[in-house]
Amino acid sequence: MQQYVESVMAQVKARNAGEPEFHQAVHEVLETIVPVLEKHPEFIKDKIVERLVEPERQIMFRVPWVDDKGEVQVNRGFRVQFNSAIGPYKGGLRLHPSVYLGIIKFLGFEQIFKNALTTTPIGGGKGGSDFDPKGKSDREVMAFCQSFMTELWRHIGPDTDVPAGDIGTGAREIGYMFGQYKRLSNSFTGVLTGKGLEWGGSLARTQATGYGLVYYTTRMLADAGTDWNGKKVVVSGSGNVAIYANEKATQLGAKVIAMSDSNGYIVDESGIDLACIKELKEVRRARIKEYVASHPSAQYVEGCRGIWSVPCDIALPCATQNEINGDEAAILVNNGVKFVAEGANMPSTPEAIATFQGSGIAFGPAKAANAGGVATSALEMSQNSMRLAWTFEEVDAKLHGIMNAVYDQCVNAADAYGQKGNLAAGANMAGFLKVAKAMSAHGVC
Ligand code: NDP
Repeated sequence: MQQYVESVMAQVKARNAGEPEFHQAVHEVLETIVPVLEKHPEFIKDKIVERLVEPERQIMFRVPWVDDKGEVQVNRGFRVQFNSAIGPYKGGLRLHPSVYLGIIKFLGFEQIFKNALTTTPIGGGKGGSDFDPKGKSDREVMAFCQSFMTELWRHIGPDTDVPAGDIGTGAREIGYMFGQYKRLSNSFTGVLTGKGLEWGGSLARTQATGYGLVYYTTRMLADAGTDWNGKKVVVSGSGNVAIYANEKATQLGAKVIAMSDSNGYIVDESGIDLACIKELKEVRRARIKEYVASHPSAQYVEGCRGIWSVPCDIALPCATQNEINGDEAAILVNNGVKFVAEGANMPSTPEAIATFQGSGIAFGPAKAANAGGVATSALEMSQNSMRLAWTFEEVDAKLHGIMNAVYDQCVNAADAYGQKGNLAAGANMAGFLKVAKAMSAHGVC
């Protein structure tokens, strides 16, 4: 079986050359699903794995727009519609200069399993562009978003593919994209999630990924006989996921002492003042180093990766992929970290994961731990279809229930396939099983 998996992996590398993040994401899944494949030879016969690693469709397109100086700019747009076995493609749009096909494919591949774990009927997809919204005027961002949607709109739809936000795509960008979709399609539908509350958005969607991460981690803590009370927490990033992970962890009694952006990190041993971070990041779009101007007892350190040298009980990486390498994981472990749960997608390198798992640290994998965002997007789709809106408390309660169900699936699959306590293997196996069964039922397609 190991040989079979290795041969599929070799094929993936050969057919997708120059896409190391995609190889990493596929490898991480394939190496953990061997026990499932051993119990289900029909998946091998039906070539489920070979089909799963091949996107159903990938779209790349030109995105021309005019900047404030009147100059024409050209970006590249992507949408990878990876797998629709259990529902319409669903996944965010990333706007960041590092975006290329390999990043979108890694994210789209992970999304298949994450979405399966949410218990909601959504398939996996992802998209984005190498456009950088940072430092652009609102008008420039609007020009880009309108041009991006002018091509994307023909490929998506409320029952086909429903994009959402991700790095660089927040409420402003979703608004501009939705406006353009509505114009082009002459229809008002729930084609994007993360919408404003006045035009079809769901309460608690903004908070969902961060809150969900904390609900998942709460179960990890409970299984170790403890809770958030008095724990020192380090949260990387200061975007959507990081801010609401901080908020919920603090509500539950933890003290978040460090946060970061791509330039550097702050340490405030008295507990980070989240209202200040929200003002800096959500309102002013400023840099995190400005925090120390109003909080002189806090410290700012240039260079974002140093954040993992801050001693803590719980680490929540919420910034970006591969932000913790093996050496940084070892520093965290030596400094006494006991729990690591991933808010970002694939933030830990394979070496970092091996270090955590080999040191007896409880490790919550991204696919499961950050599934609250897309799960609440699915709840937004449900509300759009029903043409009604649930209260914050209703959505939050459903999110909480979903995160408990995600956690239970990870634990149960790990138990059932001889990997007790390995939440990463459990998440991959449970997600894979659901999608593989659906693909088998649909025949060769
Ligand atoms: P945002 O754009 O809101 O925030 C990203 C944050 O990470 C910013 O503070 C950014 O800083 C920081 N950052 C980016 N690159 C680095 C880096 N190399 N080192 C340190 N910090 C960095 O994105 P989100 O919060 O939405 O997304 C964060 C992660 O969570 C991503 O991996 C995303 O895929 C994942 N995710 C998001 C979901 C959502 O609902 N939003 C759902 C599930 C997963 P700066 O401002 O300097 O760029």
